[in-house]
Amino acid sequence: MEKTRLAIWGGAPVRSTPLYYGRQYIDEADCRAVNAVMMSDFITTGPKVAALEDALCHLCEASYAVALANGTAALHASCHAAGIGPGDEVITTAMTFAASANCILYCGGTPVFADILPQTYNIDPEDVRRKITPRTKAVIAVDYTGQAAALGELRALCDEHGLLLIEDAAHSIGTKYNGRPVGGIADLTTFSFHPVKTVTGGEGGAVLTNNEKMAEKIRLFRAHSITKDPAEMIHPTGESWYMEQLELGYNYRLTDIQAALVLSQLNKLPLFAARRKAIVKQYNEAFQDTPGILLQQEIPQSDSVHHLYVIQLDTAALSCTRKEFFDAMTAEKVVPMVHYIPVYYHPYYQALGYNKGLCPHAEALYENIMSIPLYYSMTDDDVADTIAAVKKVAAFYAK
Ligand SMILES: *Cc1c(COP(=O)(O)O)cnc(C)c1O
Repeated sequence: MEKTRLAIWGGAPVRSTPLYYGRQYIDEADCRAVNAVMMSDFITTGPKVAALEDALCHLCEASYAVALANGTAALHASCHAAGIGPGDEVITTAMTFAASANCILYCGGTPVFADILPQTYNIDPEDVRRKITPRTKAVIAVDYTGQAAALGELRALCDEHGLLLIEDAAHSIGTKYNGRPVGGIADLTTFSFHPVKTVTGGEGGAVLTNNEKMAEKIRLFRAHSITKDPAEMIHPTGESWYMEQLELGYNYRLTDIQAALVLSQLNKLPLFAARRKAIVKQYNEAFQDTPGILLQQEIPQSDSVHHLYVIQLDTAALSCTRKEFFDAMTAEKVVPMVHYIPVYYHPYYQALGYNKGLCPHAEALYENIMSIPLYYSMTDDDVADTIAAVKKVAAFYAK
């Protein structure tokens, strides 16, 4: 590709209107579903939440689902159900959104960061193994970009050491690992229904598990851990109005309004998944041989529905920095984002004593990545513009 003058240097941009890395898709059926709830008896947690939980169990081949206010609440509830408390260590990846580690702190536990595999960008089971101590209670693996983590290796490791496996599947609803949908594989799996994720409720989240006790604990936790079931009470009185708070719970309820939206969106998951897979395939083919661009490697076990598409710059082949590439893309009106700043780079974590250098592969990856647009309602022209912008900027800065 010949060098075309970049928009950032006064050339014509690839497109005239900006394209962002993600956006929701809402149709008339979604609006009708929400409207129907508005005029019903329940607008907060009611029959639509129950129907959503059934639908998630069915989708994920899991025994129990508990819907919560958001994906972060789902992670917090999972750490609570896992019994995480002061003195406990939980191992998670550095290459994730802060919520995957914050949930450990919410429970008084200590996050321990394991490095990623430099090819797949997912948590490295061997580094998890190195970081296990007698205090380790659980591992929180993240299906980064939508590709399942090395769940087989992690399962074996957790079984060997008596650890719970929590899967943060905020990116990966619809993904299968060895033919099984994520959600039914780990001890606890969490989803997010934030608008940039594959399926949305405006906000929303869920925990899936095959463990009845943990599901019940999370169901209580969602509503202050107050029980109305005499069988669960310490001092049942027999009075019909009597209830007991058993633990410190929260108000993490999902509304029926949101649940109706998520349910309606789940009907479109096969469509969403097919479109995302098709775009990923086009990107992979387009960038396979683009000098300066490195692609995330897929493991054969994962049949991935991607939430993000991340390109890594091969800085040895380019004469620009990541910032220069990012700003040039933005000027072309294909606006990237960076996922993620390693969690422990945040000043809050630095103040807790986490130092840079902990996870060299995650840190190196962070220096060179950006996420390019990937969402259901992208047109073929949008996809073509994204490819054109990456190739234009990469060609301009090619050494
Ligand atoms: C989005 C996200 C979350 C948090 O989900 P919310 O619904 O926004 O609370 C957690 N972990 C990862 C990896 C995410 O991408």
